[in-house]
Amino acid sequence: MSKELDLIIVGSVGLDSIITTRESRENILGGSASFACAASSFFSRTGMVGVVGTDFPASYRALYEQFNIDLEGLQVQEGKTFHWSGEYEENMDNRHTLHTELNVFEHFSPHLPDSYCDVDYLFLGNIAPELQLHVLEQVRNPKFVLVDTMDLWINIANDALKEVVSKVTMLTLNESEARLFTGEHDLLSAAKALLELGPQYVLVKKGANGSMLIARDGSIFMIPAYPVMELHDPTGAGDTFAGGLMGYLAEVDRHDQAAIREAIVRGTVVASFGVEKFSVERYQSLKKPELGARIDEFLEMVRV
Ligand code: AMP
Repeated sequence: MSKELDLIIVGSVGLDSIITTRESRENILGGSASFACAASSFFSRTGMVGVVGTDFPASYRALYEQFNIDLEGLQVQEGKTFHWSGEYEENMDNRHTLHTELNVFEHFSPHLPDSYCDVDYLFLGNIAPELQLHVLEQVRNPKFVLVDTMDLWINIANDALKEVVSKVTMLTLNESEARLFTGEHDLLSAAKALLELGPQYVLVKKGANGSMLIARDGSIFMIPAYPVMELHDPTGAGDTFAGGLMGYLAEVDRHDQAAIREAIVRGTVVASFGVEKFSVERYQSLKKPELGARIDEFLEMVRV
């Protein structure tokens, strides 16, 4: 079955405890790979690369299977699953990490099943850059590689992160991370500095303000976020955005700039569903026609 895979996603797989001013939830399914794979599954069958402990609930594994995610690359190791907790302020923009327990993630070494090594599309979700490099070394000849990161790695693993960025097609990060990584306040200057590291594209996430794609050829594409009425939990929105984008590229098997723009639209809309509920819960009820209708609605909103 996994021979049919066009896309694999590596990232964290874990249990999250989330506090918002409206509602709090404990030990819900989280991690960058969980969010990204759930989102990409609407477009492409996706292989997940990650690690869980022996305490990982069978119901969450069943959920991955419900999304038709290939789990051959998901390792199970003796010990506890990665756990992260965070608290949102009233405005839902500011978030504070309360705890990060790496657990089995601490000694994770991603070893890809043979059938994953020939995929065309690879998403290196947010994990330590050394692990992202290890995955890159195993995938033989990918057509398109996207990498995501976070402030932690910019601060503590800068050289390894630069090496990863030099080997990928596209880097995605949020505005504050782009500034932190480059020391440039102005976003275009930051993007230019990032492009000099090697990728063809830099995709800057601007939260509720959407995203901006800057290409090596100098072209710029900007799109707002879909205006969400029911914002319950923004955790993982960057991951679902990137997962949807990569799922679409793998589905159409194109990675020219026109396809990338179409993919950003899909990523934006898939991510807008994800924040309407906690964890990946909204995706459990989401059907393709509803997703398609919102994509059409969004395209109409941005049309001039
Ligand atoms: P985001 O909202 O895009 O920052 O993604 C949130 C997800 O990232 C949560 O589900 C967490 O489990 C996961 N996460 C938090 N800290 C880390 C970390 N240091 N490495 C990898 N994943 C993390």
